[in-house]
Amino acid sequence: MNIKYRKEINNMQPYVPGKPIEDVQKELGLKDVIKLASNENPHGCSPMAKEAIKQELDNLAYYPDGNTGRLRSNLSSFLNVDEDQLIFGAGSDEIIGILAEVFLCPGDELLTSDQSFPRYDSAAHLMGAKIVKTPLTNYTYDLNAMKEQVSKKTKLVILANPNNPTATYFTSSSLEDFLDFLPDNVMLVLDEAYYEYVDAKDYPKSLELLEKHSNIIILRTFSKAYGLASLRVGYGIASAEIIELLNRVRNPFNVNSLAQQAAIASLKDQDFVNKAVKLNKEVKEYIYGEFDKLNIEYLPSQANFIMFNAKRPSLELFEALQERGFIIRPAFGVPNWVRVTLGTMEQMEAFIETLKEIY
Ligand SMILES: *Cc1c(COP(=O)(O)O)cnc(C)c1O
Repeated sequence: MNIKYRKEINNMQPYVPGKPIEDVQKELGLKDVIKLASNENPHGCSPMAKEAIKQELDNLAYYPDGNTGRLRSNLSSFLNVDEDQLIFGAGSDEIIGILAEVFLCPGDELLTSDQSFPRYDSAAHLMGAKIVKTPLTNYTYDLNAMKEQVSKKTKLVILANPNNPTATYFTSSSLEDFLDFLPDNVMLVLDEAYYEYVDAKDYPKSLELLEKHSNIIILRTFSKAYGLASLRVGYGIASAEIIELLNRVRNPFNVNSLAQQAAIASLKDQDFVNKAVKLNKEVKEYIYGEFDKLNIEYLPSQANFIMFNAKRPSLELFEALQERGFIIRPAFGVPNWVRVTLGTMEQMEAFIETLKEIY
């Protein structure tokens, strides 16, 4: 092929998502397949979200509200921030891309951690930026090590809290210490995709930090605890000035109407979220207990997934589980460890039985 294209693309690969349930069923001739691979909500979403989508079906011929007005006003009251402090995206994924476009030039540096969310890399690669990563310490973001990597070229710092795939978190005091150090002209992204699941008392109250620091954006999503992953809707919270910069780059109709209506309804149904979080906690306690009995090493989780030591190459356990109808995720970049999403109690009991069989 003789076509000329940007050299940045050379370093990039298409994202390889987990296989859909139907593909695994067909390939392996399995009747039942349980997907525990993408940290989706095993309880689905709020019934109010489904109802809101039905109501919206007559409007499919119209473009969505490009300003996400009603969702914006609902979320601004819910979070107690100004409406102009919010940006919505087709998943928080899209906002990560927008941040890279706004803040990274070729040769600039994105600072993040090893064994974290791969989307950060692709966003930075596309802009021709350099990706600087520090290793995890005790499977946790090491903010002290990151301080030492901040340079004049650092334009964007992304911290996942809790981290994916480890489900570990860093504390409020370590974040404040990091913020005291970070020059205030460097943009800091706090990716809090699993925020609703967190119960650690010393987890950062990031919204309060926004009042003191103008260089922070917090990313959250309707994909995980709210159970709306298929609709693609996430959001960022920052100063109005930062949001205005991001809006210059944002596609005008980036959040579709069904997603907007479903998100509004879901936000009103906090009972659904609270119940999902409570069930997740019960399942987590169950898994801790079973892993202890089986002598399986694991990382205490602040999210709806858990990473554990497979005691063999992770791909091997992945395949053994897949043959038996469970899709999990070999943890990115941590050999011998795998990540499993916490499903329903019933699913996890079956999962544990299957693990016993394999071991
Ligand atoms: C799932 C996830 C997201 C993105 O979710 P969206 O569906 O794009 O909102 C962002 N960050 C982390 C760490 C995640 O695990």
